[in-house]
Amino acid sequence: MSKKTIVIAGAGLSGLTLGTALALRGWDVQILERSAELREIGAGLYTWENGLRVLEAIGVYDEACKQVEFITQLDMIDENQELIHSTPFSNGNRFCIIPRKDVHSALVRAAQKAGVQLETSARAVCVDPSGSISLENGKTIKADLVIGADGVYSNVRNALNIEHTVEKMNNGALRAMIPRIETDKKGLAMEHWSGYRRIGISPSTAEYMYVYLTASSDDEEGLSDPMNKDAWLASFPHLESVINRITQTRLDFYFYYIYLKSWSKGRVALLGDAAHGMEPNLGQGAGVSITSALELAKQLDKFDIATALKSWETVMRPTVEQTQLWSRIYGAAAAQWPKELLGVRSEVIRKTLGSEQVDLMMSTAARHITGSVFEIGENVTAKQPKYTWIP
Ligand SMILES: Cc1cc2nc3c(=O)[nH]c(=O)nc-3n(C[C@H](O)[C@H](O)[C@H](O)COP(=O)(O)OP(=O)(O)OC[C@H]3O[C@@H](n4cnc5c(N)ncnc54)[C@H](O)[C@@H]3O)c2cc1C
Repeated sequence: MSKKTIVIAGAGLSGLTLGTALALRGWDVQILERSAELREIGAGLYTWENGLRVLEAIGVYDEACKQVEFITQLDMIDENQELIHSTPFSNGNRFCIIPRKDVHSALVRAAQKAGVQLETSARAVCVDPSGSISLENGKTIKADLVIGADGVYSNVRNALNIEHTVEKMNNGALRAMIPRIETDKKGLAMEHWSGYRRIGISPSTAEYMYVYLTASSDDEEGLSDPMNKDAWLASFPHLESVINRITQTRLDFYFYYIYLKSWSKGRVALLGDAAHGMEPNLGQGAGVSITSALELAKQLDKFDIATALKSWETVMRPTVEQTQLWSRIYGAAAAQWPKELLGVRSEVIRKTLGSEQVDLMMSTAARHITGSVFEIGENVTAKQPKYTWIP
């Protein structure tokens, strides 16, 4: 029997994960990347139990995490340096910050080893639901399945004409890796809040701490490039040692939420940020994307393409939408809290995050285990979920 074929637009974390998982299952996989080089931009990647399980399943965990320091506690701290909330981590509920370039290069190597054909300078411009994809260079490729894993600004999504909403959020971030010093605590990740600004500081490796600073897009001083250290020191005077160690940052001015009525049409599907981009408030955008990639590979291994696509969406959508919803709630508490009520914010958040129900909802993605609901494939029409498609 001839191998099933798949073409994936986008060699980001989700495209590489799906490509590798399917190549390991005997598919003929081609990944098209618009950039001239295969690389990942950014600093550190919050990675929770779900993402780590995926990396283990496709054989890249050891390489991606070889330098990582695992986090044992994540603290939220307010402007008065009072603890708002603390989350403990242990085996079975792991959390770490992987340098982005480490996880991306480990994925590229795993894809190549599994036999994936990777083509750079190959920009997808159009797709047809019958299962074809056209490139800027004039080439058209046919496959049993075509995937748009081409990020927030997805060309594939636009070409497919699926009903969708792209919502631009007026929040941005600066991200950096800073050298560690002796006084940086081992295993302790922190997110400090002050007004509408936040600073996250976490050990990543023995050498580096990962730092992000978030502010609203209209906070010109907060999101200036190069970074305005005085503005951040005014909000976080107690973090001087961290702020002064930042020498270079990557700046993101806006974030996006993306909601699709359906994740596929015919033989074309959308994966990762292209299907469900979200603000990075829970640090799960890539986590749910690679979880979704492995879930899709498992469904495709078990069912025919049409059934697998439906089954995958049925299984994955509740996890994704719950994560998007709680990311929005977290972001609203951080950046849209009424000014006159900022004095009671810590207490309200302390009570809310102390609730077991809230904790379960916020950690839905981290607890997702792929391939655990295979019977859905056979009964997919009977078990379609009630979509909580937000807009
Ligand atoms: C500030 C910030 C912090 C974040 N922090 C975290 C975190 O800590 N943890 C976490 O889990 N997530 C985090 N995220 C989210 C995470 O970065 C994304 O969810 C993840 O990168 C999505 O991966 P992807 O492969 O779907 O898309 P992308 O990473 O966007 O990859 C898309 C790929 O497709 C390529 N491409 C684009 N268009 C085309 C085309 N037309 N043809 C061919 N190729 C194309 C691109 O060059 C790219 O290589 C953060 C996001 C931001 C903005």
